[in-house]
Amino acid sequence: MTNEAPRIGVYICHCGLNIAATVNVDEVVRYASTLPNVVVARPHKYTCSESGQEMIRQDIRELGLTRVVVASCSPRMHEPTFQNVLASAGLNPYYFQMANIREHVSWVVEDSVAATEKAKRLVRAAVARVNFHEPLFPRQESVTPAALVVGGGIAGIQAALTIAEAGYQVYLVERQPSIGGHMAQLDKTFPTLDCST
Ligand SMILES: Cc1cc2nc3c(=O)[nH]c(=O)nc-3n(C[C@H](O)[C@H](O)[C@H](O)COP(=O)(O)OP(=O)(O)OC[C@H]3O[C@@H](n4cnc5c(N)ncnc54)[C@H](O)[C@@H]3O)c2cc1C
Repeated sequence: MTNEAPRIGVYICHCGLNIAATVNVDEVVRYASTLPNVVVARPHKYTCSESGQEMIRQDIRELGLTRVVVASCSPRMHEPTFQNVLASAGLNPYYFQMANIREHVSWVVEDSVAATEKAKRLVRAAVARVNFHEPLFPRQESVTPAALVVGGGIAGIQAALTIAEAGYQVYLVERQPSIGGHMAQLDKTFPTLDCST
């Protein structure tokens, strides 16, 4: 780690028309390029594609980027994709921040001007945040393959059974003398009128 200012690359994805039909991508790119520590901001039709990934890799190497922001879809979809891009270019993969301008913007904001403004705000927040990212390194720790379930009502009993069936030791703790919780106090239960015990 150095005290030098981060060098941030920002990539705004069209996601075909998913984003570009609502968000003015070029305007967001222009805005992103004015943000502090941003060295480069570029659009791409599909940033997750091989050519999109290569564009980022190349910028990391040629422009000496130390942080990357991608504004595109949900991180649940492509965060690992872009983290792998950083790693393959020699950057710690956690120097990455994603802004979700598809599910959080273009798919839910109909007005193009409002959507573009919201996209800019999310990008500004992502850029501000990535400045503070620190490198992280995965490590392996040994764990005790057992579970403690507190409360022996029907929910606790079912949780304990599910975990046990998955092959783990379970300790079920109940503060009352017997398990069953509220269900054990009932006779027949709505709506099936099954016996509750
Ligand atoms: C009058 C009544 C009628 C109902 N009728 C129906 C019906 O007809 N059909 C239906 O589907 N549902 C019915 N319900 C709802 C149903 O009983 C509850 O949804 C269900 O029992 C909740 O189960 P639970 O395991 O989440 O909680 P609980 O049954 O409340 O179990 C929680 C358990 O955790 C234990 N516990 C709490 N804190 C601790 C602690 N710190 N350490 C150790 N143990 C702890 C408690 O002693 C208890 O045994 C009825 C509920 C009531 C009150």
